[in-house]
Amino acid sequence: SWGSFVDKHVFEWSSEDEEPDGKARPVQVLVVKDDHTFELDEAALNRILLAKDLRDREIVAISVAGAFRKGKSFLMDFMLRYMYNQASEDWLGDPNVPLTGFSWRGGSERETTGIQIWSEVFLVDKPDGNKVAVLLMDTQGTFDSQSTLRDSATVFALSTMISSMQVYNISQNVQEDDLQHLQLFTEYGRLAMEETFLKPFQSMIFLVRDWSFPYEFPYGQEGGMKFLEKRLKISENQHEELQNVRKHIHSCFTNISCFLMPHPGLKVATNPHFDGRLKEIDSEFISNLKVLVPWLLSPKNLDVKEINGSKITCRGLLEYFKAYIKIYQG
Ligand code: GDP
Ligand code: MG
Repeated sequence: SWGSFVDKHVFEWSSEDEEPDGKARPVQVLVVKDDHTFELDEAALNRILLAKDLRDREIVAISVAGAFRKGKSFLMDFMLRYMYNQASEDWLGDPNVPLTGFSWRGGSERETTGIQIWSEVFLVDKPDGNKVAVLLMDTQGTFDSQSTLRDSATVFALSTMISSMQVYNISQNVQEDDLQHLQLFTEYGRLAMEETFLKPFQSMIFLVRDWSFPYEFPYGQEGGMKFLEKRLKISENQHEELQNVRKHIHSCFTNISCFLMPHPGLKVATNPHFDGRLKEIDSEFISNLKVLVPWLLSPKNLDVKEINGSKITCRGLLEYFKAYIKIYQG
């Protein structure tokens, strides 16, 4: 009938509307609404994860999480550049080209709390011959009051549950409250999962931005590991609470590491007209970016997502995502 013809075509038009030029872009798949309920965009997730050449591929899911305005999206845009120029030594590209991808910006006004994913899932050949799908997730939390802490906890927990690598983006140092938040968030996640003898989560990377004590612990991964070992050390004379936070974190993740990043320079931090071009970023930051991004994303370092010891496909991850969100919706 005419009615169903119209329905069908209007439906087709509106779903095409979502990606009018076929260009890849960030897609908000999870939103925390003002009344603190959660909404999952299942249609968008289906469209992305059930694409014919992806759905049965094993998935590597990389998430970057943490408070607002700490440079997460800025970093993710460099991760995108790497993914789009995998084969190239010169993946950082032209020093005069503005940075694009996930929206990042100056100013201090709030953004939506939730999870965005990049609409293009990348296919990468690992050295062992396995072709895997790589999903990038940008996670926003607020961490600023009791009512929003619960929202942040849920967003952080969900992103940790569905990722194979969680990058915890923090500013300047690893403070005791960063660890307490991590404990709260991961406990929130673990409660929603089946109990197993395995550690519930895979890799946790503490990414410290604007690190300013390189003479104590040098920038990069080695300095980061030494620094983190010291911060996460458990000793008899510590208060029980401090010991518990540390034991909890160790018990949650199969791998824990840390990377110390230098400050990107005043243009990045304070100039409202800065558009992300490399030319205006401190060279120390760029040289560490050249280490950090391949360390996170080079094919040999990509670990497939596992849940209860089984490797997960794109289709499988979608099912878990839906099941987990139901638990939090209560
Ligand atoms: P997000 O909210 O965590 O995603 O933060 P954005 O990526 O949107 O960045 C917020 C602001 O911080 C922007 O003005 C960036 O230019 C700036 N920025 C990006 N990276 C860094 C960094 O490593 N240190 C500092 N101090 N500022 C940064
Ligand atoms: Mg952002």
